[in-house]
Amino acid sequence: MQDRANHRFVVTRHDFSMLLATLRERGYLLLGPTLRDQAIVYDEINGAEDLPAGWTDEQEAGQYKVKRRDDNALFAYNVGPHSWKKFLQLPSLTLWKAQKTDNGFKVEERDEATPRMAFIGVRPCELRAIAVQDQVLTGGDHIDPDYARRRKHAFIVTVQCTQAGNTCFCVSMGTGPRAEEGFDLAVTEIIDTHRHEFVIEAGTDTGAEILARVPHRSASEADWQNAQSATQRTAEQMGRQIETSGIRELLYRNAEHPRWDEVADRCLACTNCTMVCPTCFCTAVEDVTDLAGQTAERIQRWDSCFNSRYSYIHGGIVRPSTRSRYRQWLTHKLAYWHDQFGSSGCVGCGRCISWCPAGIDITEEVAAIRANDGGGMEQGRKTNE
Ligand code: SF4
Ligand code: SF4
Repeated sequence: MQDRANHRFVVTRHDFSMLLATLRERGYLLLGPTLRDQAIVYDEINGAEDLPAGWTDEQEAGQYKVKRRDDNALFAYNVGPHSWKKFLQLPSLTLWKAQKTDNGFKVEERDEATPRMAFIGVRPCELRAIAVQDQVLTGGDHIDPDYARRRKHAFIVTVQCTQAGNTCFCVSMGTGPRAEEGFDLAVTEIIDTHRHEFVIEAGTDTGAEILARVPHRSASEADWQNAQSATQRTAEQMGRQIETSGIRELLYRNAEHPRWDEVADRCLACTNCTMVCPTCFCTAVEDVTDLAGQTAERIQRWDSCFNSRYSYIHGGIVRPSTRSRYRQWLTHKLAYWHDQFGSSGCVGCGRCISWCPAGIDITEEVAAIRANDGGGMEQGRKTNE
């Protein structure tokens, strides 16, 4: 969008509710953060009243909890266990369904109706994760049609991060805490004892058109500086980082590093890290029939490279050990994702750290390998052990 400086506005807390109501009136299904089961999750919401006002979260390796704030901020928390991939690349998707007939079977027509979705509260690292999935699922010769359909209609309201979570490391991955592009609207929440308002930047014509329907004023230079300072402070709070220089080569030359054995001793191969990761995209297909043999369907489900059967190919499992599976996951994310898709597969959201029951921390694992670069080169192990 040309001339972004002229598309910066301020909307009050009251009128922010109108913004979401306007999106609903325009036929969008509102999806956003909401408090459920002691976590901030992404789900269908009716409006601003369903957002987790006054709640924040605390995260550490293997830990996540929500707690009350002393104000009613709408977006003063970091990412939870869900990511937007659950709406774009569905956890379970029926690819086809067939009905038995007298002389064979008939494949039912698929209902391909796709809702127009508005994602409310997409963090900058998550926006980057969506771009990564776009590249993986629609960027090559083989396009995932279901993902492409859902993605095409998504309206994105990004929320710039005004506080860093303990497990975040977006600064070192170059993915946050401020998004500059890829959104329809980008919101910075400003809350103090005197005011509660949102500095909003339109990133597309559709975003500008929606915003025009809501009471607003033009953002002054002071408003804009205020918004910029809020995310600058977030960048300065970031407690974790990955040193990314030469990381691809570092991991390739350390395939036999003893750290892989240490992490494998702790890793439960539970798959949590891949389920919560916003860029992990692996799936498996299952064919299922009903007990009477009248219907059959093929279902695509999220799968994980931590499952031993995931690497099963004719006659055997390629990665039989937890060591080989953890190494494959981390090396894919940070090294050969670059070769395959031209970017890192990690956006620094920290979910895999918080939701790992063993408290395994990807930033610590990379640092340990870097601290003893070349360790274990002499061992001569087979790389799939
Ligand atoms: S690294 Fe943690 S979350 Fe991932 S499979 Fe191992 S134990 Fe589970
Ligand atoms: S690997 Fe971990 S930190 Fe990186 S994007 Fe996935 S869940 Fe987030």
